[in-house]
Amino acid sequence: MRRRFSLKCCLFGIGIPLTVWLTFNLVSWDLKLSANWNQPSGLKLRARKSLLVRKDKTNYSIEYRGNSPQFGGQCETISEVFNKALVKRYNSTVLNSLGIVSSPEDQKARDEGYQKYAFNELISNRIGFHRAIPDTRDPKCRGVSFPTIDLDASVIICFFNELPSALLRLVHSVLDRSPKQLLKEIILVDDSSTHDDLSCQIETYVNQHLQNVKFVRTPERQGLIRARVFGSHHASGKVLVFLDSHCEVNTDWLEPLLIRISQDPKTVVVPVIDIINHDTMEYQSSPLVKGGFNWGLHFRWDHLPANERNDPKLGAKPIPSPTMAGGLFAMKKSYFHQLGEYDVGMEIWGGENLEISFRIWMCGGRLEILPCSRVGHIFRKRRPYGNPIGGDTLMKNSLRVANVWMDEYKKYFLKQRPQAENVDYGDISDRLSLRKRLSCKSFQWYLQNIYPEQVVPGEDVKNSPPLPHHLPNKKKKPVVIKHGRLKHVASSLCVQSEKEVYTKKALLTLAVCDEKTLAGQKSQMWFETVDNELILAQMLCLDVESGTTNKSYARLMKCHGIQGSQAWTWTNKNGVSVLYNPASGRCLTLTSARPGGYLTLNLCTGTKKQEFTLS
Ligand code: UDP
Ligand code: MN
Repeated sequence: MRRRFSLKCCLFGIGIPLTVWLTFNLVSWDLKLSANWNQPSGLKLRARKSLLVRKDKTNYSIEYRGNSPQFGGQCETISEVFNKALVKRYNSTVLNSLGIVSSPEDQKARDEGYQKYAFNELISNRIGFHRAIPDTRDPKCRGVSFPTIDLDASVIICFFNELPSALLRLVHSVLDRSPKQLLKEIILVDDSSTHDDLSCQIETYVNQHLQNVKFVRTPERQGLIRARVFGSHHASGKVLVFLDSHCEVNTDWLEPLLIRISQDPKTVVVPVIDIINHDTMEYQSSPLVKGGFNWGLHFRWDHLPANERNDPKLGAKPIPSPTMAGGLFAMKKSYFHQLGEYDVGMEIWGGENLEISFRIWMCGGRLEILPCSRVGHIFRKRRPYGNPIGGDTLMKNSLRVANVWMDEYKKYFLKQRPQAENVDYGDISDRLSLRKRLSCKSFQWYLQNIYPEQVVPGEDVKNSPPLPHHLPNKKKKPVVIKHGRLKHVASSLCVQSEKEVYTKKALLTLAVCDEKTLAGQKSQMWFETVDNELILAQMLCLDVESGTTNKSYARLMKCHGIQGSQAWTWTNKNGVSVLYNPASGRCLTLTSARPGGYLTLNLCTGTKKQEFTLS
């Protein structure tokens, strides 16, 4: 192992823990907060363990660059030993092997990771802080020489309880893939994370290893909207680039964003958001789509209209978009302020992306997706953090959006979400006067001119319907590479469904192989596809509930075509051919080697209970 890093407790036994004792005091609060902020009341020391000692500023053992160290004390440092020349590209086979769970310790780390971060901590940690990722741009974007750019960027990354390896891989990707003269600084905004040692570890790492990175901390948990505004007040670059804390930026990601803004300072630009798979950490290209919304005020992706899809310049040309997904975008700092930053009356998460999208278009700006700029983001199935104020923050925030921006169209939102009637959405008078001051256009104008594809309830459908899905996924005919019986080697028994082959959620059991009858031809015939699916009788897929802890059963489910719980790779473990499911990190296992024995997912130990063939 040449490259490794360690976290508290040597998570998987490959790290070198380094303990650094840091003790420092609070310095002056220098929080340039807007009027709506809760001003901190004097110095606030968060007592961390009993070892916290107040010391004079001159006693700092390291240079301090942040503005608001709420606490000092000790924490184990995180570090990574790596050799730049050996930065690896992890293909799916290598990533799969990184995810194998072979011991109870692995299982514990993996389970805790899913709980805390809702993605595969084991693989993220094993990758470390650097990796090569595929260049997913259209060939038309590559090899072009960029003009001189008279702008520089402050990259603002807000985080709350983020996994250090994911956050620092992002920070290093920005440092490694941005031209020095264009990157003014990275601002890491810790939104008062509560995980043990996290803030201290990140701050220490930044101070010890990184130049050009500022670490700042909100006085108390603000939520992503106010945390971003807070970060923007610490920025000194001409352009603000906001990124979620679990992204990786791709080759030449920054230049297209800055070039477009330098051509038109009122254009807000968004990179194409590639997908980092939350189970495997694989970096995958995203299709070109636009941002839209439904009347429940949920963001969604829409198809490009035919004329844009057939444009020969597609792939390199900016795509105007009615809305943005929200996690990643860039705009001129002066324009961000002029346009009213964000609605700081919004809480924690949600709705701010539609609010800023409507505001940009309705108040004289422009919003575009730039296909030549690519940034990967870990899309998770759930957000792993709670909210300290309680209630549904998306609902409250969406109500603010509807009441400030949607005019008579807000009735469609209220119809979709009748519960909203009784929700207190706070005071919106500042935002209404902002709308007036900026002489913004009506929502009807926005719908007619910027989002004509949107179907208004009761009006005729005039354009192609939008995608019903979060991210478009390819639903294609399975390509079979092999078929036969799935046999347990030691017992020569065959895997079949406990019920009829078309019964969803049916568990899988062992049975005597029936090679003679027509029924046996069907009920025990498995089809392996190029996408690593195993389909029984060309109907349902071998599946496991992903992200579950403990022992789980293998079952049959409708094929979803997006790998994850339905991907199975033949892997050699201790000389045994096992069927490995990368999404769960575990292997297909028998409960007992007799007819009627069930199939479960267990640690990959390579025992006889895990040895199968397809023949
Ligand atoms: N975040 C934050 N404070 C919060 C909630 C979220 O700083 O109270 C950060 C979070 O760490 C992430 C970003 O805001 O970097 C966006 O949140 P998230 O990724 O959960 O949103 P999603 O991508 O799921 O929409
Ligand atoms: Mn995110």
